[in-house]
Amino acid sequence: MSDVIKMERELTSEIVSSFLRYNRLPSDQVAPLISDIHRALVGLSKSDSEPKTPAVPIRKSVTSNYVVCLECGWRGKMLKRHLSAAHALNPDKYRAEWKLPRNHLLTAPAYSERRSAVAKELGLGRRSKVKRRAVSKPSKLVRVARSAAGRTPKIASRQTRRAVSKRR
Ligand SMILES: [Zn+2]
Repeated sequence: MSDVIKMERELTSEIVSSFLRYNRLPSDQVAPLISDIHRALVGLSKSDSEPKTPAVPIRKSVTSNYVVCLECGWRGKMLKRHLSAAHALNPDKYRAEWKLPRNHLLTAPAYSERRSAVAKELGLGRRSKVKRRAVSKPSKLVRVARSAAGRTPKIASRQTRRAVSKRR
């Protein structure tokens, strides 16, 4: 018999006997009382001694390209929406549930970097002045994107020429 089971039985008999010392109970209700108390104690020790196992080890739940839900193993670029939709958890509750540090990432680092880079390119989050400057002097990335879209054929042809001359 394991120590836990032994302790559960000892506690059950202690609780039952002290209950019966102060309460009158018909004899046919003593057995149900014992099993009720025992069941409650087993339930307590189970929830204490068997913590939830994460779907993946916590240190493997954040990679640069995706993050993994510890509740179910779902992986994606962002956990926040998944947590509330699938588990009715907000980031704070989720971190508390798994005892995660406050800085535990819920968004894949590569994704948030890309997003902030794109946001800067588009002048999002900042208004007027910055936006106008961004429009008047597009960065290389924007120029390349535009030339790929065929809006500035000059750059595209210059690049094509450069590519051709390299090949020679
Ligand atoms: Zn999940």
